[in-house]
Amino acid sequence: MTYANLIAGEWVQGTDASRNINPSDTNDVIGEYDRASAAQVDDAIAAARKAFPAWARTTVQQRSDILDKAGTEILARREELGNLLAREEGKTLAEGMGEVGRAGQIFKFFAGEVLRIQGERLGSVRPGVDIEITREPLGVIGMITPWNFPIAIPAWKIAPALAYGNCVVMKPAELVPGSAWALADILHRAGVPAGVFNLVMGRGSVVGAALVKDARIDGISFTGSVPTGRGILAEAASRGAKVQLEMGGKNPMVVLNDADLELAVRVSLDGAFFSTGQRCTASSRLIVEDGIYDKFVASLAEAVGKLVVDDARKAGTNIGPVVDQSQLDQNLKYVDIGRQDGAKLVVGGERLERGTPGFYMAPVVFAEASNEMRISREEIFGPVASVIRAKTYDEALALANDTQFGLCAGICTTSLKHAAHFRRNIETGMVMVNLPTAGVDYHVPFGGRKGSSYGPREQGRYAAEFYTQVKTAYVNQAL
Ligand code: ADP
Repeated sequence: MTYANLIAGEWVQGTDASRNINPSDTNDVIGEYDRASAAQVDDAIAAARKAFPAWARTTVQQRSDILDKAGTEILARREELGNLLAREEGKTLAEGMGEVGRAGQIFKFFAGEVLRIQGERLGSVRPGVDIEITREPLGVIGMITPWNFPIAIPAWKIAPALAYGNCVVMKPAELVPGSAWALADILHRAGVPAGVFNLVMGRGSVVGAALVKDARIDGISFTGSVPTGRGILAEAASRGAKVQLEMGGKNPMVVLNDADLELAVRVSLDGAFFSTGQRCTASSRLIVEDGIYDKFVASLAEAVGKLVVDDARKAGTNIGPVVDQSQLDQNLKYVDIGRQDGAKLVVGGERLERGTPGFYMAPVVFAEASNEMRISREEIFGPVASVIRAKTYDEALALANDTQFGLCAGICTTSLKHAAHFRRNIETGMVMVNLPTAGVDYHVPFGGRKGSSYGPREQGRYAAEFYTQVKTAYVNQAL
C-alpha cells in the first residue's frame, strides 16, 4: 500500500516513495511512503500560513475537543499502533505499546492544558495604568523528528503546538514514516482543520532542509543528531526563527559501593540496553565505584548474556534488532574501536542470526573502559555500554560531568547524602535516583544541558515556552 502526504487537508501523492522495512525481517515491507517534493513542502507551508489566523482564534474548547478525540483514538488503538511501531522501528511490542500509550496521554494532557493557558495582570509604576501579560501562539512550526520514538516524539511536539494555537508542518524520519502517518490520519479525522497540521515525508536533506530555510516558518522543533541539529540552528537562527533542539547524550549511571547491587544491575540493564540502546537518554557510561566494581561487572554481564535478542514482536524478546544496516555497521565499528582502545569486551558484540533476516546483534558490555576512550565520549546509539571505574564518589561525579553532553544522569546508592549531592551537582537536564535513565513521565519537562539541547524544554506546561510568545499590554484606565 502507498501512503500519501497530508497537505492543506488533502492526501497528496509524492513524486517517488520510500519503502518502510521491518528491521526484524527485511523481507517484510510495511508500505511505500510518498516523498514530498520541494514544491509540495512549499504548498504545505503556504497552507499552514493560510490556516493560522483562524486556528489561532478558535476557542479553547474547540482545540481541547480535537486533542481529546485524537488522544482517545490513539489509546483505543494502542495494541495495533504499538504493533506497527515495533514492526517499523524494532523496539519490543511491550515498548511499542507503552510508547503509543504515552502518545495518547500526551494528547489528553494537552487537551486539558488548553483550558489552562494563563496570563498575568500586574499594577503599573504609573497611576491609572494596567498591565496585562498574555501568551499568543508562535505561528507556523516546522517539526523534524527522529526514528527512535516514531510516535511519542511527534506527539509531544504536535500536541502542545496545536494546543497553544499554532499550525504545523511535520517531517518524520524516513525510516519510520508509518507511525507518523497514522498520527496524521488520526488528527485529520479528529477534525483538525485543513492546513493546520501538514505531514510532509521524505529526506532530511530535501524536505527537512526546505522547512529550515523557509522564512514563513516561525519556529523549528528538532530532535535528532548533534551535527544535523547544529546545522539547523545556524540556518534557522540566521533568519531569526525560534529553535528548539534535542540532540544526543552520553548519559552516566553512577553506581556507588553502598548501592543495592541487584537494583543497580536492573537499572543499568534497562537504561543501557532496552529499546536496543537506541535512546538519547540511554545510560551508555556506567561509572562504578571500586568496591562494587567487580561484582557489578560480573552480575551485569550475566544478566546481559541472558537477554533474548530476537524479532521485536515475538513473545519473550527482550531486545529487538538495530534499526537498519548503517546503524548496525556503526555499532559494530564501535565494538572494534573499544577493543582497539584497550577496553575489555566482557559480553556480546557479535552479529546474530535469527529465524528472519534482520539487524540483530548481541548487547555489549565493555569493562575497564576509561572515560577518555571514544566508546565513552561519542554517542553510539546502540546496545553498547562502557563500565568505568571510579575510586570515590567525588571522582565518579567528576567523570559523570566530564562529557560534552548533559541530557540525563542517574545514581544508584542508598546514601541520602550522596544522592542529594549528585542531584544538585550533576550538569544534566534530568537526573534519576535508583531509577533507569529515561524521560518517561509525559507531564513534566524533558530536555538537557550543554551539547544535548538548545532552547526551551519540551513536554508538560514548560512546552508553552517554545510554542507561545509573550505580549505585554499597557492599558490606560482613564479612557
Ligand atoms: P539520526 O542519525 O538519528 O537519523 P539525523 O539528525 O540524521 O539523526 O535525523 C533526524 C531528523 O533530521 C530526520 O528526520 C532527518 O531526516 C532530518 N534531517 C537530516 N538531515 C537534515 C537536514 N540537513 N536538514 C533538516 N533535516 C534533516
